[in-house]
Amino acid sequence: MDGFTCSRCGEYHGELPMCFGAGFPDYYFSVPPDERENRVELTESLCVIDESHFFIRARIEIPVIDSDEVFCWNVWTSLSEANFRRTNEVWDDPERVNEPAYFGWLQTTIPGYPETLNIKTMLHTQEPGIIPRVEVIEENHRLADEQLSGITWQRVVELVEIAMHDADA
Ligand SMILES: [Zn+2]
Repeated sequence: MDGFTCSRCGEYHGELPMCFGAGFPDYYFSVPPDERENRVELTESLCVIDESHFFIRARIEIPVIDSDEVFCWNVWTSLSEANFRRTNEVWDDPERVNEPAYFGWLQTTIPGYPETLNIKTMLHTQEPGIIPRVEVIEENHRLADEQLSGITWQRVVELVEIAMHDADA
């Protein structure tokens, strides 16, 4: 699917973005800007706040029904300290794809859904160089249902419109 006429702004958007994302875990924003340099350690993939809150960047993939495409959200989840250490230990290890899934709380507010902050997830580690995949396991949550069942192109457009026009991020 190419462009679409947007019901929000009335414009024709020439491209249908299939991925949106958050640059920081939500908790980052609770740290005052002038304290971030001292309290936050941030790399492209990992974030530690106050040496006691551990986060990893990961991806939620939602299959589009009757297509080979996925719609995705780049998000952050929390990690236990033990799993954070383990993640660093096996970072470059090709065998890390065999890690058990790690439990985490979603740390990204995703527009177009009921509250997604702190819902339950499992993190599936991929090969080195590949962003981990998030399985949403929160019960009775639309995001979990849609990840399981897939979404229509109509829903993709709806999510894109919300992400482009309603969300701050
Ligand atoms: Zn628009």
